[in-house]
Amino acid sequence: MGETGADQHGRRAILRAVTLGGAGAAAGLAAGAAIDSAEAAPPSTPRSALAAPSAGPWRPVGGHVDVTWAVNTSQKLVALTFDDGPMPNWTPMVHDILDEEKVKATFFLVGQRLVRNARLVHGRMDRHEAGNHTWAHRDLSHLDHQEALAQVQRAHAAIKTITGKEARHLRPPFGNIGGTTLSAAGSLDYNLVLWSIKMLEKTFEKDPPKLIDYVVTNTVPGTILLAHDTGNPDRLVALRNLPTMIRGLRSKGFEFVTVSELIEAGAAVPGTRSAS
Ligand SMILES: [Zn+2]
Repeated sequence: MGETGADQHGRRAILRAVTLGGAGAAAGLAAGAAIDSAEAAPPSTPRSALAAPSAGPWRPVGGHVDVTWAVNTSQKLVALTFDDGPMPNWTPMVHDILDEEKVKATFFLVGQRLVRNARLVHGRMDRHEAGNHTWAHRDLSHLDHQEALAQVQRAHAAIKTITGKEARHLRPPFGNIGGTTLSAAGSLDYNLVLWSIKMLEKTFEKDPPKLIDYVVTNTVPGTILLAHDTGNPDRLVALRNLPTMIRGLRSKGFEFVTVSELIEAGAAVPGTRSAS
């Protein structure tokens, strides 16, 4: 364990630290080392900082968890994603638009909303991907491992039952990530998917052409676009202008794929680091 503060308090303190907060303390030390400090994690370190759920032995199913903001590919592929649904207000409209434009997307579904609104997606998810956005849209960075695990697991089961799809990607609500977000994802063989461009609805609510231009101009091969199919009414500016954005991107040669297809395209590229 090296020269940690715990050593000064004897074996019992070390054992307690290993049992209750070993991984958190270790993570604290690793972070601390980078800022030239050898102190153990402070007592205020939340349980949600634990990146390993027990004293061990433990390993995630695949040995690692990936976090993807965007994908490195030279192909003009883009993944359109929608969070927080399904909800009666705009989810059907989004599906109508995607059907009309023949576009594939990825929906990061909230489990309990999916159960309540299963009819909204019935027969409509065939070409789309279902991602996991937790059971109750909880901020996983505030939960311990078991709580975070339950949030992902319960949503996974609902998605499987209702859409028939096996979700593989977790988008943590609010984009917040704690250690237990990673350990829960790893326990269920999930990877994390964030985004590289989000619809700036608040900024452009009164100026749809600027929003369209912002999205179409900034999208590059491998971009993951974030939109929401429910929530604050300002989000409608993005949804109502989806057809124009889709056509704008297509006219630049972009093809819409699911997140999994995008990641697969990236994996096919030798060397995964972008020069830019
Ligand atoms: Zn969300």
